Amino acid sequence: MKTMGILGGMACESTVTYYQVINDCVNRALGDHHSARCILYSVDFQDIIETHRSGDWDRAAEVLSGAGLALKNAGVDFLVLATNTMHIVAPQIQAATGLPLLHIADVTADRLLENGVHTVGLLGTKFTMEKDFYKEILIKRGITPLVPEQEARNEVHRIIDEELAFGNLKESSRAYYQEEIRKLKERGAEGVILGCTEIGLLIQQEHSVLPVFDTAQIHAEESVKYALKED
Ligand code: GLU
Repeated sequence: MKTMGILGGMACESTVTYYQVINDCVNRALGDHHSARCILYSVDFQDIIETHRSGDWDRAAEVLSGAGLALKNAGVDFLVLATNTMHIVAPQIQAATGLPLLHIADVTADRLLENGVHTVGLLGTKFTMEKDFYKEILIKRGITPLVPEQEARNEVHRIIDEELAFGNLKESSRAYYQEEIRKLKERGAEGVILGCTEIGLLIQQEHSVLPVFDTAQIHAEESVKYALKED
Protein backbone atom coordinates (compact mmCIF):
# COMPACT_ATOMS: atom_id res chain seq x y z
CA MET A 1 0.00 0.00 0.00
CA LYS A 2 1.30 3.44 -0.94
CA THR A 3 1.52 6.15 1.72
CA MET A 4 -0.94 8.95 1.09
CA GLY A 5 -0.15 12.56 1.90
CA ILE A 6 -3.32 14.46 2.72
CA LEU A 7 -3.28 18.25 2.50
CA GLY A 8 -6.22 18.98 4.77
CA GLY A 9 -7.84 21.47 7.10
CA MET A 10 -9.66 23.29 4.28
CA ALA A 11 -11.92 23.15 6.13
CA CYS A 12 -11.17 20.68 8.91
CA GLU A 13 -14.84 19.56 9.01
CA SER A 14 -14.43 17.77 5.67
CA THR A 15 -10.96 16.44 6.44
CA VAL A 16 -12.76 14.28 9.02
CA THR A 17 -14.87 12.84 6.17
CA TYR A 18 -11.72 12.02 4.18
CA TYR A 19 -10.07 10.30 7.14
CA GLN A 20 -13.16 8.18 7.84
CA VAL A 21 -13.82 7.22 4.20
CA ILE A 22 -10.15 6.43 3.48
CA ASN A 23 -9.83 4.14 6.47
CA ASP A 24 -13.21 2.44 5.81
CA CYS A 25 -12.26 1.77 2.19
CA VAL A 26 -8.86 0.30 3.05
CA ASN A 27 -10.42 -1.91 5.68
CA ARG A 28 -13.14 -3.07 3.29
CA ALA A 29 -10.52 -3.87 0.66
CA LEU A 30 -7.92 -5.59 2.85
CA GLY A 31 -9.94 -6.81 5.83
CA ASP A 32 -8.78 -7.79 9.32
CA HIS A 33 -7.30 -4.71 11.07
CA HIS A 34 -5.97 -3.00 7.96
CA SER A 35 -6.19 0.79 7.82
CA ALA A 36 -4.78 3.51 5.59
CA ARG A 37 -1.12 4.43 5.56
CA CYS A 38 -1.39 8.19 5.47
CA ILE A 39 0.13 11.41 6.76
CA LEU A 40 -2.09 14.44 7.25
CA TYR A 41 -0.80 17.99 7.00
CA SER A 42 -3.65 20.12 8.32
CA VAL A 43 -3.08 23.79 7.52
CA ASP A 44 -4.25 26.83 9.46
CA PHE A 45 -7.31 27.59 7.30
CA GLN A 46 -7.03 31.31 8.08
CA ASP A 47 -3.84 31.41 5.97
CA ILE A 48 -5.80 30.02 3.03
CA ILE A 49 -8.93 32.15 3.53
CA GLU A 50 -6.75 35.28 3.47
CA THR A 51 -5.54 34.29 0.00
CA HIS A 52 -9.18 33.86 -1.09
CA ARG A 53 -9.97 37.35 0.16
CA SER A 54 -6.94 38.98 -1.46
CA GLY A 55 -6.84 36.82 -4.61
CA ASP A 56 -3.16 36.23 -3.89
CA TRP A 57 -2.98 32.75 -5.42
CA ASP A 58 0.84 32.87 -5.50
CA ARG A 59 0.77 33.06 -1.71
CA ALA A 60 -1.68 30.13 -1.62
CA ALA A 61 0.65 28.13 -3.87
CA GLU A 62 3.57 28.95 -1.57
CA VAL A 63 1.74 27.82 1.60
CA LEU A 64 0.46 24.59 0.06
CA SER A 65 3.70 23.75 -1.75
CA GLY A 66 5.50 24.13 1.59
CA ALA A 67 3.02 21.74 3.18
CA GLY A 68 3.40 19.35 0.24
CA LEU A 69 7.19 19.39 0.60
CA ALA A 70 6.86 18.62 4.32
CA LEU A 71 4.74 15.59 3.38
CA LYS A 72 7.29 14.57 0.76
CA ASN A 73 10.10 14.76 3.30
CA ALA A 74 7.98 12.66 5.64
CA GLY A 75 7.90 9.94 2.97
CA VAL A 76 4.52 10.08 1.21
CA ASP A 77 4.14 8.57 -2.27
CA PHE A 78 1.40 10.88 -3.55
CA LEU A 79 -0.71 13.86 -2.58
CA VAL A 80 -4.42 14.29 -1.99
CA LEU A 81 -5.48 17.94 -1.79
CA ALA A 82 -8.63 17.61 0.28
CA THR A 83 -10.57 20.59 -1.10
CA ASN A 84 -11.91 21.58 -4.49
CA THR A 85 -11.12 25.29 -4.41
CA MET A 86 -7.41 25.06 -3.77
CA HIS A 87 -6.95 22.94 -6.88
CA ILE A 88 -6.54 26.40 -8.40
CA VAL A 89 -2.89 25.94 -7.39
CA ALA A 90 -2.63 22.17 -7.93
CA PRO A 91 -0.18 22.55 -10.85
CA GLN A 92 2.17 24.65 -8.69
CA ILE A 93 2.05 22.13 -5.82
CA GLN A 94 2.77 19.30 -8.22
CA ALA A 95 5.67 21.19 -9.81
CA ALA A 96 7.16 22.12 -6.42
CA THR A 97 6.96 18.62 -4.96
CA GLY A 98 7.36 16.42 -8.05
CA LEU A 99 4.78 14.08 -6.48
CA PRO A 100 1.71 12.64 -8.21
CA LEU A 101 -1.43 14.55 -7.16
CA LEU A 102 -4.81 12.91 -7.60
CA HIS A 103 -6.90 15.79 -9.00
CA ILE A 104 -10.39 16.04 -7.51
CA ALA A 105 -12.01 17.19 -10.77
CA ASP A 106 -10.43 14.31 -12.73
CA VAL A 107 -11.72 11.61 -10.42
CA THR A 108 -15.13 13.30 -10.32
CA ALA A 109 -15.22 13.41 -14.13
CA ASP A 110 -14.41 9.67 -14.21
CA ARG A 111 -17.32 8.98 -11.87
CA LEU A 112 -19.73 11.13 -13.90
CA LEU A 113 -18.83 9.34 -17.12
CA GLU A 114 -19.13 5.91 -15.46
CA ASN A 115 -22.69 6.96 -14.63
CA GLY A 116 -23.46 8.33 -18.09
CA VAL A 117 -23.74 11.95 -16.91
CA HIS A 118 -22.76 14.49 -19.58
CA THR A 119 -24.54 17.61 -18.32
CA VAL A 120 -24.01 18.34 -14.66
CA GLY A 121 -24.83 21.00 -12.07
CA LEU A 122 -21.83 22.33 -10.16
CA LEU A 123 -22.17 23.74 -6.63
CA GLY A 124 -19.12 24.99 -4.76
CA THR A 125 -17.34 28.14 -3.73
CA LYS A 126 -17.58 31.07 -6.12
CA PHE A 127 -14.02 30.28 -7.23
CA THR A 128 -14.95 26.73 -8.21
CA MET A 129 -18.19 27.79 -9.91
CA GLU A 130 -16.76 30.84 -11.71
CA LYS A 131 -13.10 30.24 -12.52
CA ASP A 132 -11.91 27.94 -15.31
CA PHE A 133 -9.54 25.63 -13.40
CA TYR A 134 -12.29 23.14 -12.50
CA LYS A 135 -14.86 23.50 -15.27
CA GLU A 136 -12.22 23.17 -18.00
CA ILE A 137 -11.30 19.69 -16.78
CA LEU A 138 -14.96 18.63 -17.07
CA ILE A 139 -15.34 20.25 -20.48
CA LYS A 140 -12.20 18.51 -21.80
CA ARG A 141 -13.79 15.22 -20.79
CA GLY A 142 -16.99 16.03 -22.74
CA ILE A 143 -19.05 17.07 -19.70
CA THR A 144 -21.03 20.33 -19.71
CA PRO A 145 -21.10 22.04 -16.29
CA LEU A 146 -24.03 24.28 -15.32
CA VAL A 147 -23.75 26.71 -12.40
CA PRO A 148 -26.46 28.70 -10.59
CA GLU A 149 -27.19 32.34 -11.46
CA GLN A 150 -24.99 35.09 -9.97
CA GLU A 151 -27.12 35.86 -6.89
CA ALA A 152 -27.47 32.18 -6.07
CA ARG A 153 -23.74 31.59 -6.53
CA ASN A 154 -23.10 34.28 -3.91
CA GLU A 155 -25.49 32.62 -1.47
CA VAL A 156 -24.15 29.08 -2.13
CA HIS A 157 -20.66 30.48 -1.43
CA ARG A 158 -21.76 32.38 1.70
CA ILE A 159 -23.31 29.23 3.18
CA ILE A 160 -20.03 27.33 2.66
CA ASP A 161 -17.89 30.12 4.08
CA GLU A 162 -20.02 31.14 7.08
CA GLU A 163 -21.79 27.89 8.00
CA LEU A 164 -20.50 24.62 6.51
CA ALA A 165 -16.83 25.38 7.19
CA PHE A 166 -17.78 25.41 10.88
CA GLY A 167 -20.01 22.33 10.69
CA ASN A 168 -23.07 24.54 11.15
CA LEU A 169 -25.86 22.72 9.29
CA LYS A 170 -29.04 24.80 8.93
CA GLU A 171 -32.36 23.52 7.63
CA SER A 172 -32.90 26.82 5.77
CA SER A 173 -29.59 26.41 3.94
CA ARG A 174 -30.39 22.83 3.03
CA ALA A 175 -33.69 24.03 1.55
CA TYR A 176 -31.81 26.71 -0.41
CA TYR A 177 -29.44 24.16 -1.92
CA GLN A 178 -32.33 21.82 -2.68
CA GLU A 179 -34.08 24.58 -4.61
CA GLU A 180 -30.91 25.37 -6.59
CA ILE A 181 -30.53 21.67 -7.44
CA ARG A 182 -34.15 21.65 -8.68
CA LYS A 183 -33.38 24.66 -10.92
CA LEU A 184 -30.26 22.94 -12.31
CA LYS A 185 -32.40 19.92 -13.15
CA GLU A 186 -34.89 22.13 -15.00
CA ARG A 187 -31.97 23.50 -17.05
CA GLY A 188 -31.01 19.98 -18.12
CA ALA A 189 -28.54 18.73 -15.51
CA GLU A 190 -28.51 14.93 -15.15
CA GLY A 191 -26.59 15.01 -11.87
CA VAL A 192 -25.10 17.51 -9.42
CA ILE A 193 -21.49 17.80 -8.28
CA LEU A 194 -21.18 18.69 -4.61
CA GLY A 195 -18.07 20.59 -5.62
CA CYS A 196 -17.08 21.74 -2.18
CA THR A 197 -15.95 19.11 0.26
CA GLU A 198 -18.27 20.37 3.03
CA ILE A 199 -21.52 20.28 1.03
CA GLY A 200 -21.89 16.54 1.62
CA LEU A 201 -22.37 17.32 5.31
CA LEU A 202 -25.59 19.19 4.39
CA ILE A 203 -26.85 17.45 1.25
CA GLN A 204 -27.11 13.71 0.85
CA GLN A 205 -28.84 11.74 -1.92
CA GLU A 206 -32.20 11.77 -0.09
CA HIS A 207 -32.24 15.59 -0.23
CA SER A 208 -31.64 15.89 -3.96
CA VAL A 209 -33.85 15.49 -7.03
CA LEU A 210 -30.65 14.78 -9.01
CA PRO A 211 -28.06 12.03 -8.45
CA VAL A 212 -25.40 13.60 -6.21
CA PHE A 213 -21.66 13.32 -6.84
CA ASP A 214 -20.03 14.14 -3.52
CA THR A 215 -16.44 15.17 -4.26
CA ALA A 216 -15.10 14.45 -0.75
CA GLN A 217 -16.48 10.91 -0.88
CA ILE A 218 -15.36 10.25 -4.47
CA HIS A 219 -11.90 11.74 -3.96
CA ALA A 220 -11.32 9.74 -0.77
CA GLU A 221 -12.49 6.49 -2.42
CA GLU A 222 -10.33 7.01 -5.49
CA SER A 223 -7.30 7.87 -3.33
CA VAL A 224 -7.59 4.45 -1.74
CA LYS A 225 -7.85 2.74 -5.14
CA TYR A 226 -4.67 4.58 -6.17
CA ALA A 227 -2.90 3.66 -2.92
CA LEU A 228 -3.74 -0.01 -3.38
CA LYS A 229 -3.00 -0.21 -7.09
CA GLU A 230 0.03 -2.26 -8.08
CA ASP A 231 2.56 -0.18 -10.03
N1 GLU B 1 -13.75 22.76 1.14
C1 GLU B 1 -14.10 23.75 0.16
C2 GLU B 1 -13.92 23.19 -1.24
O1 GLU B 1 -13.94 22.00 -1.41
C3 GLU B 1 -13.40 24.99 0.30
C4 GLU B 1 -13.87 25.85 1.40
C5 GLU B 1 -13.20 27.14 1.13
O2 GLU B 1 -12.16 27.11 0.50
O3 GLU B 1 -13.76 28.17 1.51
O4 GLU B 1 -13.79 23.94 -2.17
